[in-house]
Amino acid sequence: MKRLLPLALGLLMQTSSLSAGVVSENGLLRAEGNRIVGAHGDPVAVAGVSHFWSHWDGAPYYTRETVDWLVEDWKVTLARAALGVHSGPLGYQQQPAQELAKVRAVVEAAIANDIYVLIDWHDHHAEDNVEDAVAFFSRMAQLYGDQPHVIYEIYNEPLKVSWSKTVKPYAKRVIAAIRAHDPDNLIIVGTPYWSQRVDEAAADPIDDPNVAYTLHFYAGTHKADLRQRAQTALDAGVALMVTEWGSVNANGDGAIDHESVAEWMKFIKAKDLSHAAWSISNKDETSAILKPHVTKISGWTEDDLTANGRMLRALLRGE
Ligand code: MG
Repeated sequence: MKRLLPLALGLLMQTSSLSAGVVSENGLLRAEGNRIVGAHGDPVAVAGVSHFWSHWDGAPYYTRETVDWLVEDWKVTLARAALGVHSGPLGYQQQPAQELAKVRAVVEAAIANDIYVLIDWHDHHAEDNVEDAVAFFSRMAQLYGDQPHVIYEIYNEPLKVSWSKTVKPYAKRVIAAIRAHDPDNLIIVGTPYWSQRVDEAAADPIDDPNVAYTLHFYAGTHKADLRQRAQTALDAGVALMVTEWGSVNANGDGAIDHESVAEWMKFIKAKDLSHAAWSISNKDETSAILKPHVTKISGWTEDDLTANGRMLRALLRGE
């Protein structure tokens, strides 16, 4: 009897994690003042690791198997499907069916695991392709608008463009397309200068009942002055989400800045911010979670992980 107990307990825990995860617990997320709250009205902060560009080194990991492993072993409560729109190799604009299938695999894996998922238009020039984003998010809203798991992230990182004249008009068109089919799910809007000018968005916010703004940081490059901008935005009364962050430099490479990561995590915790770290790939750069020779898409050992991978796994597991 004694020997059977661990197995029975293990099965029980597995069943409960699949039937009552973070979404069952908190329901549809909504922006309320400068916090994101659940259906119960209390702040909700979830965390995970972002997929890498779907059409690049991230491609092999757009699977149920990878998401299952991250939930089981890394204890993630947030996934991020980063649709590679057009930069670099052939992306969504050249082969839409292929990239769409990848995004859907991650969204459906997140729903099956009862975690939240960001559907990310991973682009730096979305204002040049508004019709494509409108059609894509209209489709996503029709497919998933009734699922509380889904969060629309309509523009990863605008570059050096105007919030009020460029990003906001783009966002209003995409949001209208989503709201035609989904009146209530949370929408996250990117901000100028690689999603660091949340203060500009906060000064001229979008008129929609459930919108928050994107704050991105790379700990090796961005420090107290970016946190101050985030604080300015929060003080103006808008909600933020860290849909992408790195422990290294802004180019995705360089050494882990442990001291700066600790400062950022303190801020994130104090402000109830959700966050997704860059990134699930075996690309030869320090922000990747897997070593370059590792080709497994799940079941990673400590030895398969980079220093960043080990640090993030411990952080997400609360170790
Ligand atoms: Mg909805």
